[in-house]
Order: sequence, then structure tokens, then C-alpha cells
Amino acid sequence: MSTGRSFALGLIGFPVGHSRSPAIQNAALQAQGLAGHYDLFAVPPLPDGLTLLRDLLERVRQGEIHGLNVTIPHKQSVIPLLDELTPAARSIGAVNVIYMQAGRLWGDNTDAPGFLADLAKFAPGASGRALVLGAGGGARAVVYALAGHWEVSLAARRLEQAEPFRQLGASRILELAPADLASAGVCELLVNATPLGMHPAVDGCPWPADLPLPYRARIYDLIYNPPQTRLLQRAALSGLACTNGMGMLVEQAALAFERWTGASAPRLVMQAALQRQLLPG
Ligand code: NAP
Repeated sequence: MSTGRSFALGLIGFPVGHSRSPAIQNAALQAQGLAGHYDLFAVPPLPDGLTLLRDLLERVRQGEIHGLNVTIPHKQSVIPLLDELTPAARSIGAVNVIYMQAGRLWGDNTDAPGFLADLAKFAPGASGRALVLGAGGGARAVVYALAGHWEVSLAARRLEQAEPFRQLGASRILELAPADLASAGVCELLVNATPLGMHPAVDGCPWPADLPLPYRARIYDLIYNPPQTRLLQRAALSGLACTNGMGMLVEQAALAFERWTGASAPRLVMQAALQRQLLPG
């Protein structure tokens, strides 16, 4: 079924060639019978990429492009070029979705609600103490999402990078080092938001080798490639419930798709498209 409208969507970032988003979003458009395409826009870091970035945003203002995702290195640098930010984008300090609404150019962050939606599937009704590892953009979205529902501790290798997380709702800041993690005590949820274990350095693990994992924690690794990181292997061996970042990636993409098209997102189709992308070879 075709609605007659054709959606021009895309991703701005640098580099963008590795992105799974075109496969996920084009599969969603096709499954919903919507005409259009999701393209990649390689925009060099500012100041070199400024003209191109302004150009693309102007095309959104003019209605030529109906929606954009934003990734590294523009999640922060795009903010001054927008008219409005959602509360999530403002608090997290990063934008991953851009769209026009009522004549204004908006920036949103769907990583936080994407994480929360997937967490609700992984651990329905769970709450308590959460320990988040890492202090980058992913960690900011996770801490923002958990704050208010969970008592959040944050562990980072650079304490000066971790301190601002108190404003996002973290009540305790730790060093990402064996002594601090050992004294962190019991937690019900452990989230890895560092890239340790991500392809191609798959032997990495953010949790110290000689320290048992928190004995009753659910383990959530934001990494989705490989699907089973060293951390998740250890969790499975310890009999702990665990999940990877695929669900969050699909959810943040689904929320963006719904914002841009007004259609409901075919999450299972999007997940299958991502899984096909991640098959070896
Ligand atoms: P980021 O902004 O670069 O932050 C990474 C954090 O990890 C920083 O605090 C960094 O500290 C720390 N870190 C890096 N290497 C480390 C090491 N060897 N030991 C200890 N800490 C280390 O990255 P991000 O965007 O938050 O992404 C982090 C991970 O989450 C990536 O694997 C990414 O793919 C994943 N992610 C997944 C989703 C999803 O939808 N599933 C969404 C967002 C992110 P320094 O600043 O000191 O380097």
C-alpha cells in the first residue's frame, strides 16, 4: 500500500560508511509500504563541515529532507544550529534525531527512551541500584533514563568526566578500577557504556577479571557487535540474566522512524535487518 508521500531521511556523521541505520530504516519504510529512502551524509568535523551541515539543515527546514539522524562527531556541535531541543536532548547535551515541527527545527535524543523501552522488556518492573560503567554519550543517555526510577552509581576511568553525571541524577561516582568496583556493593543492574569488548577489540571487558560480577545483577551491555561480548559471556557463565545493545539500537531507530513518518515502526522487521547486517562475512 502506498500513501503517495516519499520520505527523504538520512544520517549525518563522519565517518558514516559503517552505519547499520540505512538497512534498519529502509527495511522499515519498505515494510510499512512507504516510499522514500534513508541515505548517508558524510559531514566532516567542524569547522570544515559547517557549510555542508548548514545546507542539510536548510533542506530539512524547506521540507526537502523529512528527518535526520546525527552521530559522531556532530551530536553536540549541531545543537547551536537548531531552534528547539526536547527535554531529553537538552539534559543529555546530545542530539541524535532532527525534524521540523510547527515551523521549528527540533533536536531530540531517542537513545534514552530507546534504552528504557528495551530495559522494560529485559527486566519488566525491575528497580533498585544500578551501576553504569563509562562516562560518554551512551552513559549520559542511560543515566538520564534511569534517574528517578533507580539509585544510580557511575564508574569512570576519569573522575573529572564523571562528576557532571551528578546533575543527570547519579548519586555516587566511582573510579572504574577494581578497588572501587569491589566496594560498590550489591546492585540489581549493571550497564556497560564503555566500548570495551566492541568489535574488533573483542577481548576487552570493562569488569576486572579477578572480581566476581555483582551476584544478583542483571547485565546490560550497550555493545551490539559482537552480540555476545566477553562481559556477557562472563554473565552467562555466572548464571546472570544479560542482554546486548541490539534492542536499544532498534528502539532508538523505531522512535525516530515514528517521529518522522507518523507510522508505527515495524520493530521486528528492523531487528531482523540489523541482525542480517551483523552476520559474519
Ligand atoms: P563515548 O562517548 O566515546 O564514551 C565512551 C566512554 O567509555 C568514555 O567515558 C571513555 O572514557 C570510556 N572508555 C573508553 N575506553 C575505555 C577503557 N579502555 N577503559 C575504561 N573506560 C574507557 O562512547 P559512547 O557513544 O558512549 O559509546 C560507548 C559504547 O556504547 C560503544 O560501544 C557504543 O557502540 C555503545 N552504544 C550503543 C548504543 C546502542 O544503541 N546500543 C547507543 C550508544 C552507545 P575516556 O573519555 O576516558 O576515553
